[in-house]
Amino acid sequence: MNTADILRAYADDAADAHAALTDLDRHSGDGDFGDNLRGGLRRAVAVREERPDTDALAVLGEVFLDEVGGTSGPLFGLLFTELAHAVAVDPEGGWAAGAAAGLAAIQRVGEAQVGDRTLVDALAPAVTALQTDPDDFAGAARAAVEGARGTAALQARMGRASYVGERAKGAPDPGAVGTAMFFRALARVAV
Ligand code: ADP
Ligand code: MG
Ligand code: MG
Repeated sequence: MNTADILRAYADDAADAHAALTDLDRHSGDGDFGDNLRGGLRRAVAVREERPDTDALAVLGEVFLDEVGGTSGPLFGLLFTELAHAVAVDPEGGWAAGAAAGLAAIQRVGEAQVGDRTLVDALAPAVTALQTDPDDFAGAARAAVEGARGTAALQARMGRASYVGERAKGAPDPGAVGTAMFFRALARVAV
């Protein structure tokens, strides 16, 4: 799979969704998630163009870990870094292992469990789907989208959204929506 195509597809989607992601983070947080995701992906596209021999997943990991703000920046950085390692070892089968390692790293650092209304609620179902069928990227994307949708009914126990309590309910968690967007881009490129 061409990881640069995935990066470009994800960056395009995040640019299109910028206003919607900003609104979601205004609803439950501080309103910077749209900027963080779109900005990080734009930067990753630019860095990859400067260094076309570097794996796009590795660039994504580096940029989000080192340069992207918010709580989500470093957490996405962990996911992309783990994916980069696993996919470099096993280009076809590495996605399930990389996503699982990314989830583990995110939970080690952020301590969120499924149901806490975070990006873990989109990532965990995608990992489970990939572990069940490592080739079914469309299934993983569907699982992530469903997980993200389900966060609308959850009250946040982690992150900024936990400060606003019940008020966050009714709209999905922005980080979960941004995570599902990654798996949708992956599924689109995988076909
Ligand atoms: P900030 O709240 O610092 O502005 P962002 O807006 O960049 O951070 O990202 C917010 C997203 O980060 C949330 O929607 C949620 O999905 C995710 N998040 C927050 N805390 C955690 C955590 N402890 N574990 C996993 N994800 C988290
Ligand atoms: Mg925010
Ligand atoms: Mg912030």
